Amino acid sequence: MNEIKIFCPATIANVSCGFDVLGVALDAVGDEMTVRKTPEKGIRITKLEGQDLPTATLKNVAGVAGLALLEKSDYDGGFEMEIYKKIKAGSGIGSSAASSAGAVWAMNELLGKPFTTQELVKFAMEGERLASGVAHADNVAPALFGGFTLVRSCAPLDIIPIPSPRELYATIIHPQIEVKTSDSRKILKTNITLKEGIQQWGNVGGLVAGLFTDDYELIGRSLVDHIVEPIRSILIPAFDKVKSKAVASGALGCGISGSGPSIFAFSKGEEIAEKVAQAMREVYQNIGIDYEIHVSKINPLGIKILE
Ligand code: ADP
Repeated sequence: MNEIKIFCPATIANVSCGFDVLGVALDAVGDEMTVRKTPEKGIRITKLEGQDLPTATLKNVAGVAGLALLEKSDYDGGFEMEIYKKIKAGSGIGSSAASSAGAVWAMNELLGKPFTTQELVKFAMEGERLASGVAHADNVAPALFGGFTLVRSCAPLDIIPIPSPRELYATIIHPQIEVKTSDSRKILKTNITLKEGIQQWGNVGGLVAGLFTDDYELIGRSLVDHIVEPIRSILIPAFDKVKSKAVASGALGCGISGSGPSIFAFSKGEEIAEKVAQAMREVYQNIGIDYEIHVSKINPLGIKILE
């Protein structure tokens, strides 16, 4: 096999109480990529459609992540990549992660799978370092493993894949405004109280237990973030209204996706997820803010081959 075409899913990171540790892969939104082996060494991005992004290897996350893999590989050829972006960069649903993870996953397939998924996460994190200055794993881990993932530790890297209930759906609304990741990082506080810590790890434990046991009520009760959301939500127009309408329409819970401005809600079943979408949509229609909205099943596989 010399060429592969893949789907690279969008992902939600910072799932409520799971700030910086819990992420999840989506099914209905994602990029496509074609990757092929070449006799020339190195990585070339030969096509990039859908977004205005650099194609220079060292300026594109796919190139940087791919080079990190090549460095550890004994393969003496190179790769060409075509990237078809469907996820808007900076929307908060892992646009850069889809390319970082997609590049290394496809290369690994074409090389006969010499690397483990955990190792692929490490390579993909180098792409994330280019995008945000921090080599974080909370988007690339769910893109590569599928479903929910817990980054238990970054050093040493320890990713725990978590099963998800079959009827769990996500609704994601992206208000078309720009929130710079650097701004949403800058406003975070660096200290928390013991009381806040206790509430937060109680909820993380509850959320993980709920996902393992298909307990939708427990998932809903645990989708609470006392630390980051109250601060970051200030940067997102009508966040409180979107959240209260989503929950009133039957969502289990609602929070900020990644560093925003996208907002996600989880629901049991597609019908409720669609109702939640309608409620979220109305909030932005009423105040005249453009938006994109997606309803998606949780994607248990992550990146997959397209025929
Ligand atoms: P978010 O997760 O909030 O959607 P990203 O993590 O996707 O945001 O960050 C996007 C940043 O990464 C932008 O500055 C963009 O220029 C840069 N970038 C470099 N290569 C890519 C790529 N292939 N896909 C998306 N973003 C890329």
